[in-house]
Amino acid sequence: MQTLFQDAASARAGAWMTVSLRAITENYGFVAGLAPEAECAAVVKADAYGLGADRIAPVLAAQNAKTFFVAHLDEGIALRAVLPDVRIFVLHGFMPGCEGSMQSHDLIPVLNDLDQVRSWKRFCNGKGYAFPAALQFDSGMSRFGLNSADLDDHTLFDGLNLQLVMSHLACADEPDNLSNDTQRQRFVDMAACFPGVPRSLSASSGIFLGPEYHFELIRPGAALYGIAPSEGNRMLRPVVSLDARIVQIRTVEAGDRVGYGLSWTAMKPTRVATLGLGYADGFFRAQEGRGAVWHDRTRLPVIGRVSMDSISVDLTEAPADLEAGDVLSALGPAQDVDALARSAGTIGYEVLTSLGNRFHRVYVPP
Ligand SMILES: *Cc1c(COP(=O)(O)O)cnc(C)c1O
Repeated sequence: MQTLFQDAASARAGAWMTVSLRAITENYGFVAGLAPEAECAAVVKADAYGLGADRIAPVLAAQNAKTFFVAHLDEGIALRAVLPDVRIFVLHGFMPGCEGSMQSHDLIPVLNDLDQVRSWKRFCNGKGYAFPAALQFDSGMSRFGLNSADLDDHTLFDGLNLQLVMSHLACADEPDNLSNDTQRQRFVDMAACFPGVPRSLSASSGIFLGPEYHFELIRPGAALYGIAPSEGNRMLRPVVSLDARIVQIRTVEAGDRVGYGLSWTAMKPTRVATLGLGYADGFFRAQEGRGAVWHDRTRLPVIGRVSMDSISVDLTEAPADLEAGDVLSALGPAQDVDALARSAGTIGYEVLTSLGNRFHRVYVPP
């Protein structure tokens, strides 16, 4: 809260998003410490889960992160402009014909099928140099990667400069799910076809499954940004807070209705605050009837529909002296990302990556 109103731009803003770079570095250190034998990469796809890759990636690099993952080639190109010296893997590989952009920006494609393998080899042969690549295996999720049969003819892979073999777990957020071990076994078997190449299986949740899931490189994203690896697991520092100011307060009478569709009806005279925060800012329409914002430890329910740019909240439980300009919290100590996600029937990942660009952003230095 002390970071609010620090300059004219923050004083004008209707809502602020505060990103603690310090919490991100602490989470990185914590996660890396869970797998001391492995290299800890950082996943910064989707603009570092909506929080600003250009601000976050350099801070992680300063923490000694040497390997980064993005999903798209364009994300890799943008990250390369910020970090000239780190290793950047592009999870989706490349679209046909885009090998040259991959190589000229010094990006490493994750090859996901035999066509990508052949294209990369052809490109490298043409250039007379084996540029680095990674291989992804499908160990059970049927999303990306080569399957076991694809590995039968090993000559297909001769001449590749492989930096990494990897796969991805489908159910790592459910520690008791037997598919985790099944996928792990398949991954070990497939990786055995490429002896000596570093292996990577685990994103955030997988890291918490234990050392047998760590291999030579771990790939946390969500955990860096404070999202819990599984229900009830709360050892990460929260990274984001979201505060919105009251635009207007009105008192509605019994029988008055609020919002689109007039879906909420006052049972008694009620003080209602309108906040400048809506579904365009990642405060989902699904919060209707379930979501809340907070004043300190007091829960203030959202009433009526969520609009594009605003929500209405019931101030019945709030101090009587609240007024326009005062600040309520949508994400903070009383309501973390996972809690806000639950009341919209979704997961923290979707909340973070939906927060949008309209907030005044404050980055707390490491
Ligand atoms: C997004 C992603 C990650 C990071 O996942 P988190 O659950 O956010 O840690 C790692 N690996 C792959 C292949 C991914 O797509």
